[in-house]
Amino acid sequence: MTNNELIDVLKNKKDEEFITIIRHFKNRIKQIEKKEKLDAIDKKFKEKGMQCPNCKSYWCVKNVFKNNKQKYLCKDCKSSFDALRNHFLH
Ligand SMILES: [Zn+2]
Repeated sequence: MTNNELIDVLKNKKDEEFITIIRHFKNRIKQIEKKEKLDAIDKKFKEKGMQCPNCKSYWCVKNVFKNNKQKYLCKDCKSSFDALRNHFLH
């Protein structure tokens, strides 16, 4: 079945059936969008090269600057670490 044929089938469904089907796919769209968002965040932080030493997530942001060290905060597991420690682990 082509996409156009599928769309025609959906168009000809009764309102109730149509809503049931579309509701089902709405959840899937939400999941895909959520994954895309998370992937985009992951990619962005991957490019910066800062990885959490605890959970390996790249979703890390600059936290405080203390004792001449930039501290980072992992948004995934909430652990705090500094860049130096991160570099030693790699
Ligand atoms: Zn983490």
